Amino acid sequence: MKTTIEDLAILAGASAFAMPLHVGRPNIGDRTRLFERINDLLDRRWLTNYGPFVQEFEQRLAEFLGVRHCVAMCNATVALEIVTRALGFQGEVIVPSFTFIATAHALQWQEITPVFCDVDPSTHNLDPAKVEAMITPHTTGIIGVHVWGRPCNIEALSEIAARRGLKLIFDAAHAFGNSYKGRMIGNFGAAEVFSFHATKFFNTFEGGAVATNDDDLAAKMRLMKNFGFAGHDTVIHVGTNGKMSEISAAMGLTGLESLDEVIAVNRRNHQAYSVGLQDIPGLQLLAYNDNERCNYQYVIIEVNQKAAGIDRDELVRVLHAENVLARRYFYPGCHEMEPYRSHFPHAGLLLPETEQLTKRVMSLPTGTAVGPHEIDTVCAIIRLAVTHSQELHRRLIPEPKGQP
Ligand SMILES: *Cc1c(COP(=O)(O)O)cnc(C)c1O
Repeated sequence: MKTTIEDLAILAGASAFAMPLHVGRPNIGDRTRLFERINDLLDRRWLTNYGPFVQEFEQRLAEFLGVRHCVAMCNATVALEIVTRALGFQGEVIVPSFTFIATAHALQWQEITPVFCDVDPSTHNLDPAKVEAMITPHTTGIIGVHVWGRPCNIEALSEIAARRGLKLIFDAAHAFGNSYKGRMIGNFGAAEVFSFHATKFFNTFEGGAVATNDDDLAAKMRLMKNFGFAGHDTVIHVGTNGKMSEISAAMGLTGLESLDEVIAVNRRNHQAYSVGLQDIPGLQLLAYNDNERCNYQYVIIEVNQKAAGIDRDELVRVLHAENVLARRYFYPGCHEMEPYRSHFPHAGLLLPETEQLTKRVMSLPTGTAVGPHEIDTVCAIIRLAVTHSQELHRRLIPEPKGQP
């Protein structure tokens, strides 16, 4: 264990970890069960096109979420494109900038303008009062993002959408398995979109799903994700290829069987970080509501540079030197990325909280690849860096621009 500042790798010491500790390392379920299923699908020679595993996966998901329909797709980005198109989103759609770029790109790809709205700094989610102020005659919808899996203010957003005649959906890429006031995420708005990408705590290699209680919307999305085919030779709608493959569904079915164990590990890890980071000045671990179902898949800390004596980017540098590959999520914010940065060079003026958050927030490694002993070490490194921030500042070489 590192106990003095001289032990820190950034001052030319040895890294705490020989192997890198990644954020978003995939959780993998029971291999034997997975290989059995892969053998099954190979024996059947039914590899894609709504095979038995995809059908079973959709049914399991719908039961788990308590939702009428779950449409499995190839990834969450295409799922967002399909659901927004099926709902007739056009013109302008209000989204947070504090999200993964896919939320905005799914709209821009269809020449719908994402209008970036600021977030509530305490929840990191869309601020409903600010949403209201972004509505124009061109606005057709709102996409709320349940950032880090913590549900948006669903009631306030639903009220605004209903009163202003807007469609509301949620990007629930982080929120699979979570609940809001006792009801599973997947049941809110017109639809909710999950990601099962390898970096999410539950994965199908690549994959996603749209959950909805709207029969017509589900039917329309089923057509659209399969080229608009209504029968072998009949196409009745413009469509794309948004299908999930059988091997992805096999991974999903297998992963569902160990979902509770993975969540228990995430929860244990989150608690270990909570203990390990306790009382470090200027550091705040993002908390989850233990009264709701929660996947605890992200360990998010906010660094207050004044109180910690070190800023987020410096702390990330210190950790990277130790082979702890912490990430700056979401940095720099969608409005600072192309094409939005060029389209709306002054968007930041209306996003003060987002701009602050993108400088303060970072994500630490968790999941089944990380254990309590490793977390103790990560916390010890962070504590050392904060305790000795003044000396670190004197000795650190200024970081090259644009790093890490
Ligand atoms: C991961 C993610 C997506 C995209 O999911 P894919 O399945 O990789 O397309 C969209 N939105 C958010 C908030 C995400 O974190």
